[in-house]
Amino acid sequence: MRRTLYSSAMRALKRLQRKVTNLALLIIILWAAYQFFWARHLYTITAYCNCPICINIPEYYDGKFASGKKVYWGGVAADSSVPVGAKVELVPNSPLDFFDIYFLLKGRFNYRVEDRGGKIKGRHIDLYIPQSLGGHKKALAWGRRRMRIKINGRLAD
Ligand SMILES: [Zn+2]
Repeated sequence: MRRTLYSSAMRALKRLQRKVTNLALLIIILWAAYQFFWARHLYTITAYCNCPICINIPEYYDGKFASGKKVYWGGVAADSSVPVGAKVELVPNSPLDFFDIYFLLKGRFNYRVEDRGGKIKGRHIDLYIPQSLGGHKKALAWGRRRMRIKINGRLAD
């Protein structure tokens, strides 16, 4: 009697162990898929304004983007592999990103590449924030985020 109770308890334990192992495997597979199909394509999204802190090279402190256009809300800096004039759309990565785009960026998802920057290399977009939108304080509030972007309507690698 004692023996069968023991072995049935062991069997139940083994079943539980298998379930836990399967669940752990499933989580690892989902995590790997998320990394492979989504997370490795995330861009760093930062923000800057036209103050001497954000633009630390005096000759670039001229109120113009690298494209030569006067700075405007909606212009962004990108790596030189993204052509000037390309459309950039933010693709939120979490519900919090939606919230911040609505409250910090007035709900604006679409931007245009107008600028370059020494530190804007690879998967990095720098959003220009005009003084009318809060300038430097707003840029700091935005900070540094990670999300995917669309370049000219296509999800960017
Ligand atoms: Zn600034």
